[in-house]
Amino acid sequence: MTRQQIAARIRRARGLIDAHTHLGVDVAAFYNGDFPYAITAEDHGVRMGLTGVAAAVCFPFIYTAYFQLAAWRRGHFRRDPRSATAAAYELENARLCREIYEAFPEFAGRLLPFGCFDPARRPANQAACLRELAGRWPLFGLKTATSYLQSPVTALLGAGAGLLDLAAELDIPVTLHSAVLPGDPWANVFEILKVVKARPDVRFAIAHTCRFDRRALDAAAALPNSFVDFSAFHIHCTLARQNHPGQGAVDMEGREVHCTLARQNHPAVAAKRNRFPADYRAPAAAMQQIAEAYPTTMLWGTDTPAHLWKSRFRNDHGQDVWMDLPCGPTAEADAFRELPRPLRQRIGHDNTVRFLFGKPRSGRPDKPGADAGGSHTR
Ligand SMILES: [Zn+2]
Repeated sequence: MTRQQIAARIRRARGLIDAHTHLGVDVAAFYNGDFPYAITAEDHGVRMGLTGVAAAVCFPFIYTAYFQLAAWRRGHFRRDPRSATAAAYELENARLCREIYEAFPEFAGRLLPFGCFDPARRPANQAACLRELAGRWPLFGLKTATSYLQSPVTALLGAGAGLLDLAAELDIPVTLHSAVLPGDPWANVFEILKVVKARPDVRFAIAHTCRFDRRALDAAAALPNSFVDFSAFHIHCTLARQNHPGQGAVDMEGREVHCTLARQNHPAVAAKRNRFPADYRAPAAAMQQIAEAYPTTMLWGTDTPAHLWKSRFRNDHGQDVWMDLPCGPTAEADAFRELPRPLRQRIGHDNTVRFLFGKPRSGRPDKPGADAGGSHTR
């Protein structure tokens, strides 16, 4: 099956598409004691059966064998000369495609692999590896999570531009992990918007609902080549409603962590004055309000298996913190199904198909100004 054949089948079937999941293993997360750290194609099949998802975009996890594992776990990024890889994610991207197309071919066309990249480190090598991979197997897009790589997303406007040239050439979209945390310049949502604006020839998805930042959501909705995904919506709602000291964050003795930032809601989501106004105690209602405000921009996605997050780390105050953000395996799909049917059709299929494949040749644009993008959308 070619990518075009799979695209035609997905358009016809009109089933629910999850625009953001992971597939594979993250050994750094495993040795840190963090969750999630792995999921196989077979696991995905079981979950998709449970949630009624027809097709799921999937990316590798974050750690790549390109880097020395021990150094990575200390926050240092050193190329591992013994890894025998020319580029970040070379092994993981190939492993992902082999898992889907060789080991579990029954999932070909249902699990849609995206290749991961690092925008700043040897981008030309990565582009060459990704081009070769896309020649061997249907590849549906590219993904980066620059926070974890400490790699500035704006490198895509400089040395890493070839990665976006490749996306434009292959007519595949790019998903970008986003952040609003002041200490995270690498995936700052407004830096991401600069990239999206500068490259109208590429379709982008900004992950994690732009961390609920209303200004960023407005700006994304105004760009014809920009989409925003709802990935890990529930745990971001949990962060948004952390309005007493340290809720959800405890130190290693199980005591709640008290700090000023926690009293102002968790800084991983937009501060209240910049936040899209919604009742984040009711995730389905908040999801509906956001989808109604940006009906041609939003994509439903779960972040499976990172719909939950449990992690041990040291905070800015030097305290060891156990961050516990639980979320059940069907919570994202259950909330989605509370939305009105026409809205579900948009964020669970129509917008996602436009993000993945552009507009069909005969199709009328349903996003104002959507024709203004690159020739790939026509
Ligand atoms: Zn993710």
